[in-house]
Amino acid sequence: MTSSPTSPPVSDGGFSVTDPQESLDRLLRDLRTRTEGLSAREAERRLAQVGANDLVRQKGEPAWRELLRQLVHPLALLLWVAALLAWVSGSGPLAVAIVVVICLNAGFAFVQERHAEQAVEALSAYLPPHARVLRDGQETQVEAHLLVPGDVVVVSEGDRISADARLLSGAVDIDTSTLTGESAPVEVRVDAGSTDVPLIRARDVVFSGTSCTAGEATAVVFATGMRTELGRIAALSQRVGHEESPLEKQVKRVAQLIALVAVGMGIAFIPLGTIFAGLSLSQAADFAIGLLVANVPEGLLPTITLALAVGVRILARRGALVKRISAVETLGSTSVICTDKTGTLTLNEMSVVEMWTAAGVLDFDGSPERPAPDTPPARLAWAAVCCSNATIRRKDTSGDDQGTGDQTELALLRAAEAMGVDVPAEHPGRLALYSFDSVLRRMSTVDDGPGGAWVHTKGAPEVVLARCTRIAVGVGGDRELTDADRLEVEGVVDSWARQGRRVLALAERPLDPSAGSLPERDDAEHDLVLLGVAAMIDPPRAEVPDAVARCHDAGIRLIVVTGDHALTARGVGESVGIGRGGLTVLGGDEVDRMSDRELDAVLATPGELIFARSSPESKLRITDALQGAGYIVAMTGDGVNDAPALRRADIGIAMGKSGTDVAREAATMVLTDDNFATIVTAVEAGRRVYDNVRKFIVYIFAHTTPEVVPFLLYALSGGAIPLPLTVMQILAIDLGTETVPALALGRERAEPGLMERAPRTRAQSVIDRSMMVRAWLVLGGVSTVLVLALFLGTLVAGGWSLGADVDSGPLHHTWQQATTMTFLAIVACQIGTATAARTQRASLADIGLFTNPLLLWGIAFEVFFAAVIVTVPVLREVFGTAVPEWWQLALLLPLPVVVWGCDELLRRRARRHAR
Ligand code: ADP
Ligand code: MG
Repeated sequence: MTSSPTSPPVSDGGFSVTDPQESLDRLLRDLRTRTEGLSAREAERRLAQVGANDLVRQKGEPAWRELLRQLVHPLALLLWVAALLAWVSGSGPLAVAIVVVICLNAGFAFVQERHAEQAVEALSAYLPPHARVLRDGQETQVEAHLLVPGDVVVVSEGDRISADARLLSGAVDIDTSTLTGESAPVEVRVDAGSTDVPLIRARDVVFSGTSCTAGEATAVVFATGMRTELGRIAALSQRVGHEESPLEKQVKRVAQLIALVAVGMGIAFIPLGTIFAGLSLSQAADFAIGLLVANVPEGLLPTITLALAVGVRILARRGALVKRISAVETLGSTSVICTDKTGTLTLNEMSVVEMWTAAGVLDFDGSPERPAPDTPPARLAWAAVCCSNATIRRKDTSGDDQGTGDQTELALLRAAEAMGVDVPAEHPGRLALYSFDSVLRRMSTVDDGPGGAWVHTKGAPEVVLARCTRIAVGVGGDRELTDADRLEVEGVVDSWARQGRRVLALAERPLDPSAGSLPERDDAEHDLVLLGVAAMIDPPRAEVPDAVARCHDAGIRLIVVTGDHALTARGVGESVGIGRGGLTVLGGDEVDRMSDRELDAVLATPGELIFARSSPESKLRITDALQGAGYIVAMTGDGVNDAPALRRADIGIAMGKSGTDVAREAATMVLTDDNFATIVTAVEAGRRVYDNVRKFIVYIFAHTTPEVVPFLLYALSGGAIPLPLTVMQILAIDLGTETVPALALGRERAEPGLMERAPRTRAQSVIDRSMMVRAWLVLGGVSTVLVLALFLGTLVAGGWSLGADVDSGPLHHTWQQATTMTFLAIVACQIGTATAARTQRASLADIGLFTNPLLLWGIAFEVFFAAVIVTVPVLREVFGTAVPEWWQLALLLPLPVVVWGCDELLRRRARRHAR
């Protein structure tokens, strides 16, 4: 970072605070703000003065350095060696051509990598961090870059903090690891006054870039953007580096191996060729250069990077934002998906359908009858209204009845409204709040009510029931909760849960007015009076059953990990088709009591699983166990506690709508629509990208055989058979005609049957033997035979016989025509190869000839480029080509069909075999 603390990089508009640790009153005065926050208009004014709350990104590597890197990577170095060799052996133009090729290639790779980087960077724009802030005295959500000094922000569990701020009220636990590297959260509270320590260690200040793991607080912003501590150290402003994916690493290894073999062969053949075959040194050098240039797969790596980057974009368009390019590849190999239930499999649109109280069952199909005052249902409705953080937006103000807050609570509020309760917009009488906790599975409030303070509790039935000693009956009365009552309630809960309904119990208790101060959470939530239970439905998403079926076809196992009741989870799971090969449902405490070995055994049983009432810790254990068993695990999560499991999973998936910032940060992929079906779509896209990479590897490798074998013939015959192809022509193929079709194969659509294969295993390499056999022997082999036939045929037809001199004299033109035919024949064969490589198994008829327009353009380009090289006089000179006879050209026409046809037949045989 170039800035020093004494010279702020941006004008601060006069809102600089010399000492954020001064007394709160003075701080608020200096910032010209109040505890109620700024007005929206003032905030706007300040934004114009101070600038956006953004970190100015430090530039990554300068462009020239990146370009240089492309010029000196190992494969480029090999080409430099070839150029040098050409120069030394006296082929100046060839040396120049190779250098041009190196530069073009570097430029190409540079552009492609930039492209890839931008694809990932652009994603951060899709996911702007938000902040809750008081504007005009109202809590509103704004994009974090709109925060200004003087804003009062609300921070609660799971939030990422977007500016440096001093606490005004409350207490929070803060994970400061991004800033200080400390992993344990620190407690920050309003009264932790610490004026005598450095700011960064002050315990009443929260910093931009850290996140809140528990609690709730309000805080006044005193520094934004580059003036924050984070801005000063610019820890996050570095450009995200492009780490290599396993795919790229594998391909790089293979490419280098091939290059090494080429060099070895070249070096070995120089003495062999000169001593045994009687070639001149310059002929032998030509040969070595040809071998090298033909073999080095220069364009492969950048093309792969680009294909992955394109995958990132495709995913983004479908609602899945991945944060690493390599995730695209991992997605394709996912073999188990561990998913939430609420909101992911279901719509998270809850509505109460039935209520049970000691006074009977209330049906919400249609509108329920209004209960008389003080009867159990009326008290239940009132408890639901009090014990809630949701609000129903009034119809008269906004025209709709959307409401904000937790869906479970909204459903209860709507139910209460339907029962005739006038639901207030605020919670005026609230004295205390014990928030919902996914581990405790309950929530309570203490509210002002008739005759003093009342505790209102709601939560999972078994949790609430365990804390009840009495049950509400009659009008305003209650009696002891008997074992028979418990059995009856449990029976109701079970039968409702079995139908996939979410069931909550509600309870209340008057507090002893003489107790004085408010009780601690545990003291409040006991000896409760059970009011009743409410059942709500949350319909499954319409797309989910189909997505589940697609997973099953694709050999992907599904595991539901939910906080909900076992029977509810089973009901929902079964309704969407989860449970192929059997469905085991385990409760949370069952998992907690299991040893690791027992858990492994459960996971090893065939069939699918539901972990109900599960804790976030068990998510981590499940992830570990599955990975230990060789699975590639995709795991969803939305809370702070889910972060470790999200980090550990191969693909951590967070929810864009309902998740917390912390979960989103820990995840590899964020779903913008929270939809399970999107995960499956992403897996499919990942498989498709991986497949396409394999397709263009086949295509690029296939030309090696027809390029290399004729050279070997030349060397082995001691020059009696002339060089079939000039090195310049090889370059024209590798870096001219070939490039666009290769890129186009990277955009090929998903092949039929893509989602009917088992996921590939961790050990499987992108380049396997069957693929090399297909590229080098089948496609390459057939091409070689055809190419050689045309080459030799042209020579013989021109009057050539073995050993005749072609370097000068009457046969020279014939030889030039023959090399041109080799060149054109390779191009023609590659058209067939490209068409064949479009599928790995399926037949061309299944996908249609014209379904990849980019490839058709690529082929058109290929043909045009070849025609130009053969017909334009200057280029004829450079590439040593001569125009063949018409009948010779006609011979090229069947080549693509023959090459493609052979592969098509083999694919058909393979399909038969598989069946
Ligand atoms: P999931 O999202 O997997 O359904 P949660 O952790 O959200 O699981 O909820 C677990 C259980 O906690 C629910 O089955 C319900 O009984 C209870 N619960 C959920 N939301 C609330 C809430 N706002 N207040 C009280 N209890 C709740
Ligand atoms: Mg939930």
